[in-house]
Amino acid sequence: MQRLGAETVVVGTGPGGATIARELARAGEDVLVLEKGRDHQFPVGSILAYATMYDIRRSREGVLVRRGITTGGSTMLYSGNSYEPPSFLKEEFGIDLSSEVKETKEELRIRPIPEDFYRGWTGTHRLVAAAAELGYSMTPQERFIDPALCDPSCDRCLFGCRRGAKWTSRDYLYEAAALGARVVTRCDVRRVIRSGDTAVGVFAKVPGDTLVVDAGRVILAAGGLGTPVILHASGVHGAGTHFFTDPMSVLAGISSDGTGTWHEMTYTFADESHVGEYVMGNVGAVNAFMAQIAALHLPYARRIVSLSGMTGMFVKLCDEPSGRVEPDGTLRKSFTPRDERIMAAGVEAAKGVMVCAGVIPETICVAKGIGGHPGGTAAIGRVVDENLMTGVKNLFICDNSVMPRSGGIPPVLTLIALGKRFARTLKACGRTEEKTTHERKEEQA
Ligand SMILES: Cc1cc2nc3c(=O)[nH]c(=O)nc-3n(C[C@H](O)[C@H](O)[C@H](O)COP(=O)(O)OP(=O)(O)OC[C@H]3O[C@@H](n4cnc5c(N)ncnc54)[C@H](O)[C@@H]3O)c2cc1C
Repeated sequence: MQRLGAETVVVGTGPGGATIARELARAGEDVLVLEKGRDHQFPVGSILAYATMYDIRRSREGVLVRRGITTGGSTMLYSGNSYEPPSFLKEEFGIDLSSEVKETKEELRIRPIPEDFYRGWTGTHRLVAAAAELGYSMTPQERFIDPALCDPSCDRCLFGCRRGAKWTSRDYLYEAAALGARVVTRCDVRRVIRSGDTAVGVFAKVPGDTLVVDAGRVILAAGGLGTPVILHASGVHGAGTHFFTDPMSVLAGISSDGTGTWHEMTYTFADESHVGEYVMGNVGAVNAFMAQIAALHLPYARRIVSLSGMTGMFVKLCDEPSGRVEPDGTLRKSFTPRDERIMAAGVEAAKGVMVCAGVIPETICVAKGIGGHPGGTAAIGRVVDENLMTGVKNLFICDNSVMPRSGGIPPVLTLIALGKRFARTLKACGRTEEKTTHERKEEQA
């Protein structure tokens, strides 16, 4: 058995974990970061990402959920779209992230994709024009990308970005490491070690051995699927329920004149008039095709010959938090009647846009239910308080599992802002001042 010690241990290196690690390292704290995945380099930007960095799982009811198991977590595989936090965080929980969002947007230069990117995208232009004709408004998206480094005909954001054009939380992790944070990869954290009602470290599996870390503070950021499993094993009650994942339906079809979205960037235009129900947008031909294969629409594989004429769209559902992550990691997730109704409406809308843009209706295939925003499983108000503190002293959570429900929009900007706000709270109060909600309530009483 190996043994390490640290003032703060952070579990996971997605936007939640890496942001915290960087903020605490900047403040000169002794930080140890534990990451289950490897620091993959070679597969980044290639189809090998699917076999190495992706973890694709299916709920017992058939909903697919994707996440990244690698340094940088799921941001290695994300599209890089940026959305402001859902308003319910402030309205219902008093969590105002506006200053952290502003700071992050300035720091990472987040802005809509520049016009010269999409000037030559014939297929996407057709979708945007068709959407307008049908009364929708597909507008250019804000992205976490540096246009100077990005190749707009690449469309491989979902495999990782080899050019370094897409911001990922590896950037923050590497900065934390340069500031002195220690990082252990291939380290699968199994449970939090407790002394009564206080967290005092973690127990993990490392290749061929086990690792015990003694820590003054434990911050779980293993994501909406990873964190509840660790909580279950650590005797923290209430975790794992209210699971959501924003499942997408990806549509692919062939245009009558052979002009599709080949070499055009996915999710660069979207209609947001139904946020809270669904969002729909454009998909590049390769990603539209890959989604059909991932959904096991294998006969569609013969369409590979017409890839250059393929057009894609997605419909991202704001699903109800009705699923569950079991203690052994098994997923339970189906579509509720409301989810089915809204997804069907979104798919009909997207089909209408595609047909209006010249796609042959009989060629349209729909890969249904591919989620990528797992969350809700250790939510604010249920497992943590508004300062992300659990009922166990010195045990915190900072990842998408704390979101009480889906905002129906991609969450990375929200998670970075939440991580910054959380780090400031920690720095402001100092560890000795940290008290659980229960303790504070007792004091007030
Ligand atoms: C294909 C795809 C496209 C997406 N596109 C967008 C987008 O455009 N914009 C956007 O905002 N969001 C997007 N997302 C969603 C976004 O990437 C995630 O919601 C976000 O990264 C979640 O952050 P997190 O910190 O909760 O978890 P993650 O980013 O998943 O990080 C969790 C980390 O914990 C590690 N881990 C897990 N279990 C353990 C364990 N037991 N021990 C140690 N480490 C562990 C994992 O390896 C990982 O590094 C996309 C997701 C996918 C899959």
